[in-house]
Amino acid sequence: MQPAAAVLGFDEALAKVLQHAAAVPRPSSEPLALLNCGSRLLAEPVLADRDQPPFHRSTRDGFALRASDTASSLKVVGQVRAGEQWQGGTLEPNAAIEIMTGAPIPEGADAVVMIEHIERNQDSIRLLAGRTIRSGENIVPQGSEARAGQTVLPPGTPIEGAEIALAASCGYSNLHVFRKPKVAIVATGDELVDLAATPAPHQIRNSNSYGLAELIRRAGGEPIQLPIAPDRRPELEQTIRAARQCDLMLLSGGVSMGKYDLVEEVLQALGAEFFFIGVRMQPGKPIVFGRLPAENNLPAQFFFGLPGNPVSTQVTFHCFVEPMLRAMAGAGVQQPRFVQATLAEDVAGKPGLMRILPARLTADRIRPEVRLVAWQGSGDLAANARANCYAVLPPDNDHFAAGDVITILLR
Ligand code: AMP
Ligand code: MG
Repeated sequence: MQPAAAVLGFDEALAKVLQHAAAVPRPSSEPLALLNCGSRLLAEPVLADRDQPPFHRSTRDGFALRASDTASSLKVVGQVRAGEQWQGGTLEPNAAIEIMTGAPIPEGADAVVMIEHIERNQDSIRLLAGRTIRSGENIVPQGSEARAGQTVLPPGTPIEGAEIALAASCGYSNLHVFRKPKVAIVATGDELVDLAATPAPHQIRNSNSYGLAELIRRAGGEPIQLPIAPDRRPELEQTIRAARQCDLMLLSGGVSMGKYDLVEEVLQALGAEFFFIGVRMQPGKPIVFGRLPAENNLPAQFFFGLPGNPVSTQVTFHCFVEPMLRAMAGAGVQQPRFVQATLAEDVAGKPGLMRILPARLTADRIRPEVRLVAWQGSGDLAANARANCYAVLPPDNDHFAAGDVITILLR
């Protein structure tokens, strides 16, 4: 017998999702041209193919010399540029070699003095008064950034510009990246029509399938939109069976207490196990998380029943689906994107409910500030789009004051 699933507090529900996320296997991988790897997740480590830097490198235009030389003037015996190797043998005492940024340090030299710090007289230089030079100055030692064979990027790393540049510096023209998990989107509701149709006055466009598709893409998944399922058991069951082909199933709508909210009932009839059937949060209270059992060569499949109200759909996606999807995509277990900001105005709390409300973050260099966006409730997509984050107002407080540092959820 399965214990009755519960309505959980927010933290408890998130812990439950993260616990399952920690146990998902890593996806298989595929090779991809380096330039197409942006926003994918690395499946194999990237190794330095040689020391980085590959030689002791000058970080300045100036003169390579021995820091211990005491003569008041040093003889300039030659020049070495980036892309050249000094061929004149070991640097003699009391001599210097003119050197450019990025050039290899000549044998025998152990410091570079900046061109701004010397005075030049034909073929000799002298340190300006008050300037000193110490061994190692203005030199990045060979291998100090990475040793040959060392892992510079571990599997699971998200690949952006920084990672592409590093992989290119190690000679990779291809990378192995994780395959994207396929995520089924099942929108339910008799009131829904697709974008191609003209809605009658009592009908609603299926916007959730589109918004979710983009959120899925950004979290590392491949969205698969299924046809709208009406609020009738046989059709709903048929669509859920089709969604079993994917790695993860998202349903929208049909999880509230209404007479035609059939999602849980149909999933239950298919043998689903429920980890929670609601979360004490607003918006998003009716969210359901569970798993369908393995059958007919299909592995067990996690599902989320997201509330149909579009802002609830998106908030619950960021809080619960995103950590699970990122783990399934190979990124490991991560919290939702919580950061902190200063509240710009007083806000009333609602004890007992974790509120995650559309908000706008404005930041200058000194202080990120957040204020709530006026909204008409969890159906208000226009307010949601005016927001750029969500203010997280915990359930144990009935008042938040201007100047309080609060958690916000980035999206
Ligand atoms: P439900 O969770 O099924 O009770 O749906 C709550 C409300 O959300 C409905 O009355 C619709 O107005 C809206 N809704 C449900 N599904 C969608 C959807 N796929 N796209 C846009 N709005 C939706
Ligand atoms: Mg509905």
